[in-house]
Amino acid sequence: MPNMQPNKTPMPEQDPHVRNKNFKEVALGYTDEMAINEAQRCLQCKNPACVQGCPVNVPIKDFIHEIVEGNMDKAYEVIKSQNSLPAVCGRVCPQETQCESKCVRGIKNEPVAIGRLERYVADWYMNNREPAVTAPKHNGHKVAVLGSGPSGLTCAGDLAKLGYEVTVFEALHAAGGVLMYGIPEFRLPKKIVQEEIQQLEKMGVKIDTDMVMGKVLSVDELFEMGYEALYIGTGAGLPNFMNLPGEGLVGVYSANEFLTRINLMKAYLPEYDTPIIHPKNVAVVGGGNVAMDAARCAKRLGAENVYIIYRRSEEEMPARNEEIHHAKEEEIIFKLLNNPVAIHGDEQGKVKQIECVEMELGEPDASGRRRPIEKKGSNFLLDVDCVVIAIGNSPNPLIRSTTEGLEANKKGCIIVDDNTLQTTREGVYAGGDAVTGAATVILAMGAGKHAAKSIDEYIQSKADQ
Ligand SMILES: Cc1cc2nc3c(=O)[nH]c(=O)nc-3n(C[C@H](O)[C@H](O)[C@H](O)COP(=O)(O)OP(=O)(O)OC[C@H]3O[C@@H](n4cnc5c(N)ncnc54)[C@H](O)[C@@H]3O)c2cc1C
Ligand code: SF4
Repeated sequence: MPNMQPNKTPMPEQDPHVRNKNFKEVALGYTDEMAINEAQRCLQCKNPACVQGCPVNVPIKDFIHEIVEGNMDKAYEVIKSQNSLPAVCGRVCPQETQCESKCVRGIKNEPVAIGRLERYVADWYMNNREPAVTAPKHNGHKVAVLGSGPSGLTCAGDLAKLGYEVTVFEALHAAGGVLMYGIPEFRLPKKIVQEEIQQLEKMGVKIDTDMVMGKVLSVDELFEMGYEALYIGTGAGLPNFMNLPGEGLVGVYSANEFLTRINLMKAYLPEYDTPIIHPKNVAVVGGGNVAMDAARCAKRLGAENVYIIYRRSEEEMPARNEEIHHAKEEEIIFKLLNNPVAIHGDEQGKVKQIECVEMELGEPDASGRRRPIEKKGSNFLLDVDCVVIAIGNSPNPLIRSTTEGLEANKKGCIIVDDNTLQTTREGVYAGGDAVTGAATVILAMGAGKHAAKSIDEYIQSKADQ
């Protein structure tokens, strides 16, 4: 008999007033009893709708069944067959709009907590097993992957499994992309990201860091070096600004810079060299996950007041519900239907105030969301000493501007064939945020998988000729 309890088994969390002063993980994970209790809520549907919601098609009911049976090694194997970064996905995937949104238990009650169970299995494996990964036999073909975010790593892992000699070229000094420099430690511990990456390395994937491709080596040079195909997974790391008066003042950051200093360079720890200001009052502009992360980091640096300034209402906020909920619990102040128009500084050129206007919502725009309209004369000032701009990112133009024949659209996203993910250059494939613009970890991974399959077909068909 399945467990018909209507709600998900709750997951223990750090107290909001304690956690908003530290960078330790907020959600603490299920115990064995909690995991089994939750796994028993799954009805083991004959035609499981949940799988259709998973961009990499994890056999969800099968791994949940193995949890109920207490076969954790098997549960892990089932997940790993489709997902190379389960500990990451269990933590950061927007399950509410993916697998869990399709779960039949969600029609009347809360869906099965698929993400929490995936995380549980991945953590159990990391804590209890020493993975004995061996490098498969090489097939004599070389592929280069540009960028070591979830998309590039997934593509590299799948190709390595097939016997390819894969080198990942990464611009930064550490692999992982947004998982390392963007998403904070309190949502995704960096140790976990590195452990998942080490497994790929054991499979024979070579990771070459400090390699800004397009500058150190061009796409053409890589082909000359004997790589037979390339995958571009360089993400969308170029921050957008608002062109507000005062955006050049000291104390204004892009969310990228703010988060990179904190997450990658560990600026919040005194023993690290990279500095960061410890502001008292912070305005974060934007309503996505990036804005929530920046606001929650600012609180943890000791800020008294952290404002999220968002021009629409909460309903239109693109951030995950869980992130909004956690931010509110941590006393982040939401200034909804507000938009900044200028940043004012003091005599030393440092941020002193942000000037905003009130907004109201009009008719839906092209994105389907109601368009914000400025209320004339509603200007007001907020005292702040730091402003973080988190209104979105675009793909970095470096590789496409140094590669002849590689086409991009108006937004700078690389153009690919939907069926193969091949770009407009033969043998060059692309996926993840570099193609879609800022999206999600699992979609980036799905593209990496898709491209690995196409690259294999391409190289094998050439070898057969
Ligand atoms: C702060 C933040 C929070 C987020 N939260 C979530 C979340 O909770 N859930 C979720 O699903 N998604 C979230 N996202 C989105 C998600 O992280 C991205 O969609 C995903 O990381 C995209 O993967 P990618 O591999 O395409 O690119 P990236 O992760 O951006 O990786 C690209 C890599 O390529 C490298 N690179 C760039 N240019 C070059 C070059 N010229 N040469 C060599 N290397 C290069 C970069 O340094 C980087 O390491 C978040 C994003 C941010 C910024
Ligand atoms: S849809 Fe929900 S109940 Fe059905 S198999 Fe998937 S997780 Fe289990």
